[in-house]
Amino acid sequence: MAENTEPEVSTTPQKRNQREKLYFENKIYALNKETSTSKYYRCVRRECSGRCIEVDKKVTLTQQHSCLVASFECDIEKARNRVKQFSLENPFVAPSRVIAEVQQEFPVSILQALPKHTSMYRSIRKWRRPEGIKEPTQRLDIVFTDEQITTAIGTSSLFHDSKDERRILIFATEGCIQVCIK
Ligand SMILES: [Zn+2]
Repeated sequence: MAENTEPEVSTTPQKRNQREKLYFENKIYALNKETSTSKYYRCVRRECSGRCIEVDKKVTLTQQHSCLVASFECDIEKARNRVKQFSLENPFVAPSRVIAEVQQEFPVSILQALPKHTSMYRSIRKWRRPEGIKEPTQRLDIVFTDEQITTAIGTSSLFHDSKDERRILIFATEGCIQVCIK
């Protein structure tokens, strides 16, 4: 049985429908069951029989894998998860900056294997969206949070919202408009 005293448990915040992940000896596991003393993980490959258990931060392989996941694949998953973690921990850092930061932590070969930057940016935006909020398909679907339409001094920054199909939005403060009128 393989043992590792320092399992690398993903600390990525998971949404409700996602399970906590564990990286152990180049395999990726998803949390299957949890008791007060142990955590039971299964290989993320559905058809695989690989299982492991974590007790007191010690991970033990309990059932051998039938899958063949290259360690490289595991590294890519790790990098992707790191991007996710970083973007959630730093919600106001631009996606391009997030990628640049994470890039420094991984070998070039791994990063080249990640999806294209534009697709990673899309993922970052998706991860950051509060749960249950879908990507708006039309302008009318866009719902602004108070933060998005309030200036630093607490006044409204949304000057006009036509609320029709064309949804014409004008962002300006009352004060700015007055200046323009003068
Ligand atoms: Zn497996």
